[in-house]
Amino acid sequence: MTASTTLVRTACVGVLALQGDVREHVRMLEGIGARPVEVQTPDDLKGIDALVLPGGESTTISMLLDSSGLFEPVAERIAGGMPALGTCAGMILLAREILDGRTDQRCFRAIDIAVRRNGFGRQVDSFEADLDVPALEREGAQVDVDVPLHAVFIRAPYVESVGEGVQVLATVGDLPVLCREGRVTVAAFHPELSGDVRLHELLLSDVEKG
Ligand code: GLN
Repeated sequence: MTASTTLVRTACVGVLALQGDVREHVRMLEGIGARPVEVQTPDDLKGIDALVLPGGESTTISMLLDSSGLFEPVAERIAGGMPALGTCAGMILLAREILDGRTDQRCFRAIDIAVRRNGFGRQVDSFEADLDVPALEREGAQVDVDVPLHAVFIRAPYVESVGEGVQVLATVGDLPVLCREGRVTVAAFHPELSGDVRLHELLLSDVEKG
């Protein structure tokens, strides 16, 4: 193991643990050797190198971010360059703008995309797809880009518009479902449910790049 690999493998990765599929992300991170930390209070942010925002219900998570006092400190850390990965509800929370959200719902404006909540439909419209992700290679993650990324979509948002600085890494039809800007990566689907570790690996490689 090289020195830099050791650094990444011991990266402390927070998982926002207010609501949603926290445990699945924790397991994925343990599986690739990172140290997951469940983030429930501002104090929990102190030692973390990166943050995962899980799938769940973005309106509930938004409310709990306010009541826990986490919204501002999380926003500051992300604005300060901390790598972040948001899946489904997490994507909604990281977006610049939420369409069809609740009027009091807040987002971090950490990536220049507008997302439509439940854009792909409701629970009954949930679906799975194999996504081509050739651009992941250029992102420097240690990933096999020839294997499609198996994606599970549950009441998934879609991306209605992207700003100039945003890289679209995967689409369903014409709709972007995996985007990246700087060190912020968002997926409309749930890699933590299909067990594909490549996006979590990408997050660790963002920590390594420093
Ligand atoms: N539709 C949900 C929301 O608005 C997201 C669904 C999910 O994370 N699976 O937050």
